[in-house]
Amino acid sequence: MLNVRRQWLAMLRGLCQVCGKTGRDPRTGRIWWVITETAFRAMSQDSGLTNAPPTCPACIPESLAYCPQLRENSAVYTAARAEPAGVLADTFTPGPGGTAIHTGHNIYVGFDEFARHASCLALQMVVRLDGMRPEPTP
Ligand SMILES: [Zn+2]
Repeated sequence: MLNVRRQWLAMLRGLCQVCGKTGRDPRTGRIWWVITETAFRAMSQDSGLTNAPPTCPACIPESLAYCPQLRENSAVYTAARAEPAGVLADTFTPGPGGTAIHTGHNIYVGFDEFARHASCLALQMVVRLDGMRPEPTP
């Protein structure tokens, strides 16, 4: 199960999802990320949305070695910036007698989609990565 509090903290502070230390490279200021097809949606050639927190350079080799999903399909990038953009949410619609009917799970809802906010329960934070650059495995 996903630890929602840990995921939000890692996304807001740019912390490594493995060790909890910073995912930002002190030499370059860029943030390290292991990108997977299931947790990334490209927005342009060098930007996109992800719900996966950063992974610091020290934890990347171990992550790739021990996580079957990462071994199968992933790529290492750094990003110049990461800004909160929205959430993955459970969505609901009003039902009979004041009930709520569950209509979706892990649905992307942007922070600028105000009309949808009243009918969703946020789960995972999604950040927009900009200035993405492919990197060799550290
Ligand atoms: Zn780490």
